[in-house]
Amino acid sequence: MGLFDRKEKYIRINPNRSIMRAVEREAPEVPDELFAKCPACKHMIYQKDLGPAKICPKCHYNFRISAQERLALTIDDGSFEELFDGIETTDPLRFPNYQDKLRATREATGLDEAVLTGFAKVGGASIAIAIMDANFIMGSMGTVVGEKLTRLFEIATEKALPVVVFSASGGARMQEGIMSLMQMAKISAAVKRHSNAGYFYLTILTDPTTGGVTASFAMEGDIILAEPQALVGFAGRRVIETTVREELPEGFQKAEFLLEHGFVDAIVNRLELRATIAQLVAFHGGEK
Ligand SMILES: [Zn+2]
Repeated sequence: MGLFDRKEKYIRINPNRSIMRAVEREAPEVPDELFAKCPACKHMIYQKDLGPAKICPKCHYNFRISAQERLALTIDDGSFEELFDGIETTDPLRFPNYQDKLRATREATGLDEAVLTGFAKVGGASIAIAIMDANFIMGSMGTVVGEKLTRLFEIATEKALPVVVFSASGGARMQEGIMSLMQMAKISAAVKRHSNAGYFYLTILTDPTTGGVTASFAMEGDIILAEPQALVGFAGRRVIETTVREELPEGFQKAEFLLEHGFVDAIVNRLELRATIAQLVAFHGGEK
């Protein structure tokens, strides 16, 4: 009996339960390591069919991946030198359970915060790189994320390096209140100084890039790339529809829609990103 037959049977023998409840109860029995549901086309995909780059074979949606997986797919082997790790996250608002959440997330992700920063090489050229990870409290931007990114731009300016940033974020971190929002201005100032010095900044918008991250450094790149079907926006669809009292067009806030409307320079499939980044960095004067 297949996994899905079992679900059918469950529904049949429990005619009084709603289908939703039956599916909810069945869901944990589908082994996570075997199947993944594509968030874009909703097909159930064998995990092994996604491959190491985790791309849906049906619709080419690029699944969310961890910062470590991203690093392995993007940079020259063994070239990563981590910077600014171990900055302690404070809890200025004494937000309930925030410290516990941080501890558990650190353990689960192997990261100290929602962004990984350091030096690396791509196609032999030196870069400063930052990779956000949506698995870390939704990639939210608190004071440490802001500090790490700011320092990365500062050191890149000092060392005359291009900066490559992979964004993935639910926006500012609500547990740190106004301190999170201040990071937008702080990072943007560092981006501007890096730009004034004449160095190249490339952003790659990955699924999802939203809120204060979209409203600041993610959209400040000299060149802005996006992964296929990535959600990119500021406020959520429902919030906008309720505010403006209008139905939004199909595909609104998808990378393809943004490309069509001039917010993104190109959509690049994950498998071609490494070569594209290497080419863009070399073209903009990346030193070997
Ligand atoms: Zn798909």
